[in-house]
Amino acid sequence: MPNDRLGRPLRDLRISITDRCNFRCVYCMPKEVFGRDYQFLPRADLLSFEEIIRLARAFVENGVEKIRITGGEPLVRRDVESLVAQLAAIDGLDLTLTTNGALLAAKARALRDAGLKRVTVSLDSLDDATFRSMNDVDFPVRRVLDGVEAAAAEGLPVKVNVVLKRGVNDGGIVDLARYFRGTGHVLRFIEYMDVGHSNGWRMDDVVPAAEVVRTIDGEFPLEPVEAAYRGEVARRWRYVDGGGEIGVIASVTGPFCGDCTRARLSAEGKLCTCLFAVRGHDLREVVRGGASDADVVNAIGAVWSRRTDRYSELRTAETATLPKIEMSYIGG
Ligand code: SAM
Repeated sequence: MPNDRLGRPLRDLRISITDRCNFRCVYCMPKEVFGRDYQFLPRADLLSFEEIIRLARAFVENGVEKIRITGGEPLVRRDVESLVAQLAAIDGLDLTLTTNGALLAAKARALRDAGLKRVTVSLDSLDDATFRSMNDVDFPVRRVLDGVEAAAAEGLPVKVNVVLKRGVNDGGIVDLARYFRGTGHVLRFIEYMDVGHSNGWRMDDVVPAAEVVRTIDGEFPLEPVEAAYRGEVARRWRYVDGGGEIGVIASVTGPFCGDCTRARLSAEGKLCTCLFAVRGHDLREVVRGGASDADVVNAIGAVWSRRTDRYSELRTAETATLPKIEMSYIGG
């Protein structure tokens, strides 16, 4: 289990199981780029569930303790429950999934029965008009909230992730805090990042984490909570009155590359060692090329041991315009 060149171990893996999504969030998969003619990956190019499981086991051999299933939108991939069941059978693995919540009400029970441990739901606004315009497919916020409630009713702990874009949904911070206080669901605010190159990111669009904390603290006083483990990306705060916890992920204003223990596997089997990678390492070629299990383990270890990425610590206005892999491809 090699550390990378900056001494960081491999602990977390995000597996994108599809590059498709049923939303067209303006900051992630804008319609002008991901329109009707957009060529998504052909089915034969996607890793099969069998290949994903084989790779997941090899990542665990390299030190991975936590896997997050993501996409695209993972719940649009057929039989996702069966993949969850097979991943959940891997010993000692913390398994979770990130979803936009659109199909969660229908799938929460099957996912829980398959062995999912918890779920993260992306939800950028409680205001229906704002939510519909951000997802850009006119999807009502109520149905995502139904998904959150269905997951909780099945006993799945829920985190709710909010990406804030200045002037778009930053007016709703306190409403979100008020709504989720006391529910046990942890609300987390993520700074809008310069992922990919189709979202036209500008620094002015970012709402700094410190501002989010100040805004909520002004209404519901907060106090800091110690980080639970090395590599925890969210800075945690709790309501002084016992109303629960929130987290802020300062990916832009407070980068955490020094503690980044995360790898990403794209739906077609490219291993990326940074969210801001320009290209990945082809593991599908390795698994389809007749490699033994030990060869697959070694291939992953070799990539990790050469890793030097720390993009967010080096970010400038210039780097933001460099070509990078899209989030919908690499897995959010
Ligand atoms: N479809 C699933 C979902 O909606 O959660 C999983 C994939 S999505 C790419 C994962 C997360 O990335 C979502 O919470 C989304 O809001 C976030 N995201 C996408 N583009 C982003 C960006 N430029 N900066 C910060 N977060 C972003």
